[in-house]
This record gives sequence, C-alpha cells and structure tokens, in this order.
Amino acid sequence: MSATRPTYRIGQGYDTHRLGPDRKLILGGVEIPHPTGLIGHSDADVLLHAITDALLGATGMGDIGEWFPDTDPEFKDSDSKVLLAKAYAEVQKRGWSIVNLDCTIFAERPKLKAYKPLIKQVLSELLHIDPELINVKAKTGEKVDAVGREEAIQASATVLLQR
Ligand code: MG
Repeated sequence: MSATRPTYRIGQGYDTHRLGPDRKLILGGVEIPHPTGLIGHSDADVLLHAITDALLGATGMGDIGEWFPDTDPEFKDSDSKVLLAKAYAEVQKRGWSIVNLDCTIFAERPKLKAYKPLIKQVLSELLHIDPELINVKAKTGEKVDAVGREEAIQASATVLLQR
C-alpha cells in the first residue's frame, strides 16, 4: 500500500438518556428550553456522547465509559463538550482527522428543527471542522417506545476518519 494513500476508519456511537424534571436539556452542546431534561452523571448530552463513542470506535479506543467512568466523581455533572474534546484530542494525537460526521437525535419533543443549525455550529467549533462536513438529523419516536412516550432521548452518530 502506498504511504501517501490515506487510510480510512469508520465508527458508530449510540446513546440513550432518560428525561426527568429539574434538569437542563442539552443536546449537541446547546441548551434547549424544555420542561424536562436528560438525567445522567454528566450533563447527559446524549448527542455528544454518541459522537464521542463514534470517534473512539473508529480508532479502536474503546468506549466513553472506559475513558470517563460514571462512577468517577471527577466526571459528575461534567460538561460533555469537555469529554468530547478530550477524546477527540486523543484521536487527533494518533493522526486521525474527520472526513465527515452524520448524526441523528431521536426525540418526540421538543421539535429540534430550529436548533439544528446551532447544534451544527457548536459541533463545527468543537471539532474544528467545516460545518459542511457535519449533518444533524432529528426524528421523533412515532409516539411508541421510550422516545415516543417522552421518557428518553436517544442519539446515534457515524464518523469517517482518515489518516
Ligand atoms: Mg451517555
């Protein structure tokens, strides 16, 4: 194989957090006004957790729970932007850069259409990549299962890296 030919790796991430009262709803680093928020040891940003896992997965570096255990008081209420930045720095240290990132948020409510451009902008700043390389999709749960009953929000992410 030619030394100049890029090597590619793909990774996927998926995460679920429960919705509950007296919590902020933070998705993709953006605080979204809503009567309920996601419950978790950190700020429970389900989208950033899925993206972090996708990056770790693509590079064979395990998962978010291994890097930032939810039993560790250091990560209590932590900003998931910081966790993603730490994981991404490790990915970059190993010579990898993002080709593109595609993600989906599964939420019955609130409607996320108005927030997608802002989420994309935050992701672009966090990952230091052009917003054109990022796609954010939002879907409902069709009123069934945990998402549809507004008990949880889920997110998935797929990332392609090159070295
Ligand atoms: Mg999580």
